[in-house]
Amino acid sequence: SVQGLSRDTLLSLYPITGTKIYMNLGQPDIVEKYVDLPFDGIGLMRIEFIVSEWVKYHPLYLIKTGKPEEFVNKLADGVAKVASAIYPRPVVVRFSDFKTNEYRGLIGGEEFEPEERNPMLGWRGVSRYISSQYEPAFRLEVKAIRKVREEMGLKNVWVMFPFVRTVPELKKAIKIMEDEGLERGSDFKVWIMAEVPSVIILADEFSKIIDGFSIGSNDLAQLTLGVDRDSEILGRMGYYDERNPAVLRSMRNLIKTAHKYGKTVSICGQAPSVYPEVAEFLVKSGIDSISVNPDTVIYTRRLVASVEQKLILNKSR
Ligand code: PEP
Ligand code: MG
Repeated sequence: SVQGLSRDTLLSLYPITGTKIYMNLGQPDIVEKYVDLPFDGIGLMRIEFIVSEWVKYHPLYLIKTGKPEEFVNKLADGVAKVASAIYPRPVVVRFSDFKTNEYRGLIGGEEFEPEERNPMLGWRGVSRYISSQYEPAFRLEVKAIRKVREEMGLKNVWVMFPFVRTVPELKKAIKIMEDEGLERGSDFKVWIMAEVPSVIILADEFSKIIDGFSIGSNDLAQLTLGVDRDSEILGRMGYYDERNPAVLRSMRNLIKTAHKYGKTVSICGQAPSVYPEVAEFLVKSGIDSISVNPDTVIYTRRLVASVEQKLILNKSR
């Protein structure tokens, strides 16, 4: 029976692919359920669930009330749970990407969060980490990652910056991270999300300071097409579509430029989980890894293998 098989044997039942197949995960508790799936790592570990369900408090409130270690420890525990369950496969942990309205929802959050008219385009991602208000909380996020890597010895934990807009802001954030003792290196990769078009336009500049990109196709489609991803009417009219040629070409351009600089490209948005043709397009464009929802890991691995096989056959003709 299948129960008697070792993990290695189980994994050998699936095709090997040149393109890595990663999985997206946000809830540490469910990692065990998926641990035997044929994925090569976690391509996007969202930490928002840990913060809202485990920590519950706004990090700046915890700092103010003298309990910053509550944030660090809980975040570290959540990340460690996933990293140890799938070790030595890598886990790409994304720093927090709440919008201001979501941060306001955390206990004690209202005091620290402005009300923005358009939080989706507001104080989000890296702009937050380098601001004098949030920087102390960003340092707690970094401390948690450092704890997992150094104290718990889980060196398969990498990091990813969300909603990057400019090179100078990213340089500042990386400097803060280094100041907390997390240095980019051969066993510690630093990725950024390519979801604001500026990152793709200036991909050559970004390539000089990071190890890899991960396409956030949800936001990239929204920002490339000028379509609110939550707009019902535009959704119904078909405007929000990651298969739009402008979005696809943008992704292909990124892969080309990143590879020129020896950097990897992944994707962690919904597109390849929902549209097999996008996965196929990306494999043909030379993407290095594809990160999908747990329920599409097996399907995607088989699909990617068949696309790769076709590419090889065509080449050898
Ligand atoms: C994305 O934008 O594609 C993404 C993965 O990030 P989120 O959906 O969390 O904004
Ligand atoms: Mg996004």
